[in-house]
Amino acid sequence: MSTIIIDSYLCNACQTCIEMCPDVFELSELTGKAELIDPDQEVTAAIRQAAAFCPEKCIEILD
Ligand code: SF4
Repeated sequence: MSTIIIDSYLCNACQTCIEMCPDVFELSELTGKAELIDPDQEVTAAIRQAAAFCPEKCIEILD
């Protein structure tokens, strides 16, 4: 199973990933950084695209 990792240290909260996949990513109320709504989220093509568009390259997908 693939795993999605968000490096919240690098995340600049631009919300690109949230705009592209609003059902998958959200801004954490605690940290103000992007996080997964469901930690067990399945990796989809849309998520891979969001990772590619992340300006900080902080969404990593481990296959
Ligand atoms: S696209 Fe990247 S930098 Fe922007 S909010 Fe999402 S994880 Fe953070």
